[in-house]
Amino acid sequence: MQHHHLLSLNDLPPDGRRLTVDDASLWTANLREFHMDCRVEHPLKVELQILPVEDGYLVRGELTGGVIVPCNRCAEDVHIALDSRFEEFEDVPDGEDEADEQPGDSHILLDKGVPMLDLAALCWEEFVLALPMNPLCHEDCKGLCPQCGANLNTTACHCTRDEGDPRLAVLRGLSLQKDWTEKK
Ligand SMILES: [Zn+2]
Ligand SMILES: [Zn+2]
Repeated sequence: MQHHHLLSLNDLPPDGRRLTVDDASLWTANLREFHMDCRVEHPLKVELQILPVEDGYLVRGELTGGVIVPCNRCAEDVHIALDSRFEEFEDVPDGEDEADEQPGDSHILLDKGVPMLDLAALCWEEFVLALPMNPLCHEDCKGLCPQCGANLNTTACHCTRDEGDPRLAVLRGLSLQKDWTEKK
């Protein structure tokens, strides 16, 4: 637990507090730990606004930055510009009844009764949510040839020419058609 990523909410002014989270290690440590193929290209930054409300806190934020991830079809670099806004209600866990606690629901934990906002967990979660589910180098990326592995965006291999021939496709029968549908 990195305690400098915990923000005490005890001395929060009634009109809330703004802060910027831009400690690169917060993200790079998790990227390494989870073996994610994702490189930070432009520094990641989260602008946060934390407001005390009844029974908890309202956390608003904006995540910006840029990362490079592999294309889902051809594995070439995809440059992703991140700019996402979020708003979350953060519950204060009930310290007296630990059986009721559901870890992961809230980014607030109690440290000797003091509510602390786990900035690292919050910012990491927002970062993961902001990443595209299906990153592509471009929408009509042709991907890799399933037979020889050539990048079909830049190479025309012999196997793809075969596949493009309707007479040969007929000879290959239904299994080929099934392959194509599954890839769509
Ligand atoms: Zn691609
Ligand atoms: Zn090929």
